[in-house]
Amino acid sequence: MSNQTCSERSESIRVRFAPSPTGHLHIGNVRTALFNYLFAKKHNGNFILRIEDTDFDRVKREYEESILEDLKWLGLIWDEGPDCGGNYRPYRQSERLNIYKELADKLLKEGKAYKCFCSPEELEKKRKESLSKGLPPRYDGKCCNLSREEIVSYEQKGIKPSTRFKVENGLIEFEDIVRGKITFNCSDIGDFVILRSDGISAYNFAASVDDVLMKITHVIRGEDHLSNTPRQILLNQAMGFDSPHFAHLSMILGPDKSRLSKRHGAESVTELREEGYLPEAVINYLSLLGWSSEDGREIMPLNDIIKNFSIERVSKSPAVFDIKKLKWINSHYIKNKDIAELTELSIPFLKKAGVRTETVERQWLYKVIDAIKDNIETLSDINKYAGIFFDEIITPSSQSSPIRGEGQGEGAAEVLKLFKEMIERENDITEDIADKIILGIKEKTNLKGKKLMMPIRIALTGKTEGPELKKIMNILGKERIIKRVNNVIS
Ligand code: GLU
Repeated sequence: MSNQTCSERSESIRVRFAPSPTGHLHIGNVRTALFNYLFAKKHNGNFILRIEDTDFDRVKREYEESILEDLKWLGLIWDEGPDCGGNYRPYRQSERLNIYKELADKLLKEGKAYKCFCSPEELEKKRKESLSKGLPPRYDGKCCNLSREEIVSYEQKGIKPSTRFKVENGLIEFEDIVRGKITFNCSDIGDFVILRSDGISAYNFAASVDDVLMKITHVIRGEDHLSNTPRQILLNQAMGFDSPHFAHLSMILGPDKSRLSKRHGAESVTELREEGYLPEAVINYLSLLGWSSEDGREIMPLNDIIKNFSIERVSKSPAVFDIKKLKWINSHYIKNKDIAELTELSIPFLKKAGVRTETVERQWLYKVIDAIKDNIETLSDINKYAGIFFDEIITPSSQSSPIRGEGQGEGAAEVLKLFKEMIERENDITEDIADKIILGIKEKTNLKGKKLMMPIRIALTGKTEGPELKKIMNILGKERIIKRVNNVIS
């Protein structure tokens, strides 16, 4: 239990995030994790991580590891979970199979569930027939009333049965915290499998059993699970358990209103991380997907989000993922980050851009990052600027040549000639000296604005935009400035 990723909290509110490790953490799922976390922290409750890994064909341990790593990266630290334990362990469903089996057997004994010997092929055929008639594809109850002899005969043939839960007719009603009163007609549900023929619990059964045994008070999850809720309530009723409260969050869609996918900019937290988003920016942005602070603030660190969060203010309309807004929030956090920390975070991105960061001094690197931090939206944008500072010389493309490029010709040669002379007269190009040099050229040539700055900027960086010129000059230093100017003049 005493593990750095987990901390002990008081009882009362208990929520869980229950990912299935069949892929990397999806942005929709992490918003669910975040809202659970915010609700728990706001009420001084517990945030539990449960791994739903009973779909053995699709589950992979590496995905579980990646999910845990992404949650830690975001700072969504759980109080109980598979790595740190807790009073209700184990927290991996694959380690709880005997619990489900025991409870399913109890339901069988009580006549609330029955053995079903229908083959997957038979069920699929019936499902298709129902669909083709426009009927809901629900189980027809074939095995509900098998005689003792029929059961024995199936068993003698070696057919392994699944366990099916009997759904009685009636209505199921519950109050959803986000969506209000919800009603389901049980006749639309049909008897459903709780233990598959291989003896492994199906999702609805394992989830409802765990929510109760782990004393979960509030189930906060995506709207895609809404239709599972009546099944889970029915199971709880049959087992004599009270159900937790439910809150179903709306889906996150792309701007074209389709399900969020890679083509909307990103799909998983892993992608955001690799792209160079800061965790605090991702958290801040995701908190605004379906929730807003009463005071209208948008930029908020996690502690303020916790303080202001209220589940009652969560909207039931779908949230739209807007990568531009995420970038805007990310650039805010980049600009305001401590420069030493930002530099450390930037190093992997510089390396990816081919920079041998170990060969340069840290202090100099701080200056580089400080110069470009206002121009980047994600850390991978560093790639665009790495060449400016790390390459020996720059070769501007013919359109952006400071001398022949469009609109730059007039006076550019004169600007660069003067610039070079003035640089040669100095030893140390501080930012003040850089300002003084530019002012000097302005006075001598009577040129200003783009006509004055662009030839110098292009000669030094090969680009028409970028960090402040005086910062670039200071970082490059005399020798490299002269080399670059000579390169374009020649
Ligand atoms: N394992 C389910 C999923 O990943 C979670 C279901 C739930 O929250 O009840 O979608």
